[in-house]
Amino acid sequence: MPSASFRQPDFTASRIQAEIDLASPGKRGGHLGLLWSDNANPLGVYQFPAACIVGSPGPTVLLLAGVHGDEYEGPVALDRLYKSLDPEQIRGRLIILPMLNAPACRAGTRCSPLDGGNLNRAFPGDPDERPTQAIAHLVSACLLPVADAVIDLHSGGRASWFVPCALAARGRDGALDPANLAMATAFGADVVWVLGAANDNRSVNGAATAAGVPCIAAELGGGGHVGIAPLQAAETGLRRTLTHLGVLGDSHDPLAAPPRLVELAHAGHRVTAPEPGLYQPARQAGDSVAAGDLLGWIVRPDCPDDKPTEIRARIPGLILAETRHAWAVPGSFLAFIASDLA
Ligand SMILES: [Zn+2]
Repeated sequence: MPSASFRQPDFTASRIQAEIDLASPGKRGGHLGLLWSDNANPLGVYQFPAACIVGSPGPTVLLLAGVHGDEYEGPVALDRLYKSLDPEQIRGRLIILPMLNAPACRAGTRCSPLDGGNLNRAFPGDPDERPTQAIAHLVSACLLPVADAVIDLHSGGRASWFVPCALAARGRDGALDPANLAMATAFGADVVWVLGAANDNRSVNGAATAAGVPCIAAELGGGGHVGIAPLQAAETGLRRTLTHLGVLGDSHDPLAAPPRLVELAHAGHRVTAPEPGLYQPARQAGDSVAAGDLLGWIVRPDCPDDKPTEIRARIPGLILAETRHAWAVPGSFLAFIASDLA
């Protein structure tokens, strides 16, 4: 194997320090450490698991999961990927952070228990701010500069369930669009969710786009547990995408059909509850609907004489995600209806 030469990320600007060698050839696990002194951990270090596999010269791929702490398929898929690979099988380097928002992952919460922050709304971050901002800064300032591509695994968390899909961002100048779409297609899911240029740029996707690094995310089930089919989609998708990037030499069957390209771009894509009650769905994630189709009802078993309220689709498309919280209040998320890309 030719000797590889990979750049060690520069952590000097971060308050999170690496207690792991991310550049030398080989395979190793370790952790990053955030100095954050609070009532629960005075003068201590909050640890974030990290791992790397450094093989022969090639691209560096940053693999992230646990940006939200109640999304479990990604952390399991990255753990299984790490355990399944040896450096001799890798052309390039994998830097793996399976629980990027580790305090949230350990608490099983979407946002950080340390500061309440949503990590995917915290980019580019700030090393001198609270933990969520410091983690975002670590990715933006230390890891993206050494990355040639990023894969960021999500799911619907405890609150919702997503049709397994890969997400490709479209940037304002379009420079990364072909690379992002090619990665998302290579992931091999039936659906690719294309993010518009107006997508929230405080996300991992947004930070990667700003840094000029191709990036996909994935939504993989959810509901507060590890789903068997979404986990398989994650594992297959990771290997297919790493093969596409030239990191793995797997051979995969070609896709039976190109993915369905969808976007959340039209008013009416977010279906919310108009009133309090229990949401009883009539259709489920993965179904295609026409405008006006019945999606479900808000029912009030606590008010036996109340009539159920119909919830209907305002636009045609694919039910991309559905709530896993049955009790709704006005404004509660019920479903996303994604439109087919024109
Ligand atoms: Zn997420």
